[in-house]
Amino acid sequence: MATKILKSSDSAYHYPLLIKQLLTSVQRFENENVIVSGEYRFSYAELNQRIHRLANTLKAAGIGPGDTVAVMDWDSHRYLECFFAVPMIGAVLHTVNIRLSPGQILYTMNHAEDDLVLVHDDFVPIIDGIRDELKTVKGYIRLTDDTDSNDTDFDSLGEYESLLAKADTHYDFPEFDENSVATAFYTTGTTGNPKGVYFSHRQLVLHTLNMVNTLSTRDSNAPLLPHEGVYMPITPMFHVHAWGIPYAATMMGVKQVYPGRYEPNTLARLIREEGVTFSHCVPTILQMVIQSEEAANTDFTGWKIIIGGSALTPGLASHAMEMGIEPFSAYGMSETCPLLAMSRIDRTHRDLSKDGQVGWRTRAGLPSDLVDIALWDADGKVLPHDGKSTGEVVVRAPWLTESYLHEPEKGDELWQGGWLHTGDIACIHPNGVIEIRDRIKDVIKTGGEWISSLDLERLISQHPQVGAVAVVGVPDERWGERPFALVVAKSEALSVESVAEHLQQFVDAGVINKWAIPRDVKLVADIPKTSVGKIDKKLIRAQIG
Ligand code: AMP
Repeated sequence: MATKILKSSDSAYHYPLLIKQLLTSVQRFENENVIVSGEYRFSYAELNQRIHRLANTLKAAGIGPGDTVAVMDWDSHRYLECFFAVPMIGAVLHTVNIRLSPGQILYTMNHAEDDLVLVHDDFVPIIDGIRDELKTVKGYIRLTDDTDSNDTDFDSLGEYESLLAKADTHYDFPEFDENSVATAFYTTGTTGNPKGVYFSHRQLVLHTLNMVNTLSTRDSNAPLLPHEGVYMPITPMFHVHAWGIPYAATMMGVKQVYPGRYEPNTLARLIREEGVTFSHCVPTILQMVIQSEEAANTDFTGWKIIIGGSALTPGLASHAMEMGIEPFSAYGMSETCPLLAMSRIDRTHRDLSKDGQVGWRTRAGLPSDLVDIALWDADGKVLPHDGKSTGEVVVRAPWLTESYLHEPEKGDELWQGGWLHTGDIACIHPNGVIEIRDRIKDVIKTGGEWISSLDLERLISQHPQVGAVAVVGVPDERWGERPFALVVAKSEALSVESVAEHLQQFVDAGVINKWAIPRDVKLVADIPKTSVGKIDKKLIRAQIG
């Protein structure tokens, strides 16, 4: 049976979902709230005007529909303006991961076919080193936090602020197909070259609407980010558009604070001085902020923070809650734009003790609206949501990358059987809560059993003297693999033996088997991190190897 489709009037307007429409409400907030970034502090009316000026600047630089504009910057008002102006003129925004090696940055910029590069002074040395090998770049615009200093021999079309100051305040943003590519960026790539993911206007608009709704409903007490809230991202804007939350915050017209280069003391100071109420970051950044010197002078009470990108450990969640912080978890990945799931805290959870709440706050949470999540076993059989069966998380949602840039065969691998394969192992509880158990690649197989490296990290993090922990599997002649733990001590009192003793209680209680006790525990000053601040297990394995 066919569905009924009626012919629309010839004069009906087929509203395309374009990023420019996220700004339709901005007029309402014109002078109410501000954007704060370094020395800059301006209203939404000015933001709107600056987006128009930037569009004219890009046009004058020869950029038009289908071209690609790369940005190499810290989190700033400039980046926010690029999030809008670049796609709004029909060009593609390539958010360059400035933490990759120069060789990988070169690879991504050639692969994305960047036409124009907006580059902050701090990254000019990288560009200088690869400039001759950039095949498609026709020009550069200089970004600086020191507009007084023009003391540079960097050959560019000009400095961002002075170009904007000269540009016209009106740009007639065109309408085009909502499926046009708006943004592209590269996965952090554990093996081989980074892979490019890309998102259309339609996908970003739907993701933004979904993000606004999710932020509004995950705490039954109050939205995570109300209109009166103050937002500061602490996940880089180059990585999955800072989880797309700058788009949501702009649409909502909230005060936004862009912290520049992440420096833990500055972050704590901004939280205090600007009254930040809501942020998001990976666990390691939260750890750094709350351990910073400035943290001692900062009252974090009521600061809501979403932790994602890696599992929030119970140890860190408890520590944060003791400081008055309200942590939530979110789950997603570069390929998924990223939002797939987020914790939900309602009155029944709030009535629980702090320890009782930790489980709700550290699990990956409930799927967001419009997200279909299933668990598959290795043969593609769908597994029940019984809180016990573990399988690969496969997803469908309207905002997932539909392939990898210029690598369709890798896209086919990602999308086997019409579902996006996350490479994560999880179980789903009967109440819908997703519990990520591990990356498929990080699971430790020992003596025929498999041990989740995340489970072990969670348990070790509960040791009172453990500050941070990473667990990987290392080859073992007898058992195939055995766990190996790197531990950062919170105090000098921590001994290697006490980590094993701490784990023994979980062996005795039947939570883990005895092979889960790491063969080696190494006390280290720091844990190796990837370019986006996550535990770099590949590097750890290589170093141990
Ligand atoms: P990326 O593409 O670099 O953002 O990494 C995405 C991966 O981070 C996911 O596939 C998960 O393995 C991991 N991840 C993200 N959020 C969580 C979470 N809440 N708990 C555990 N792992 C997570």
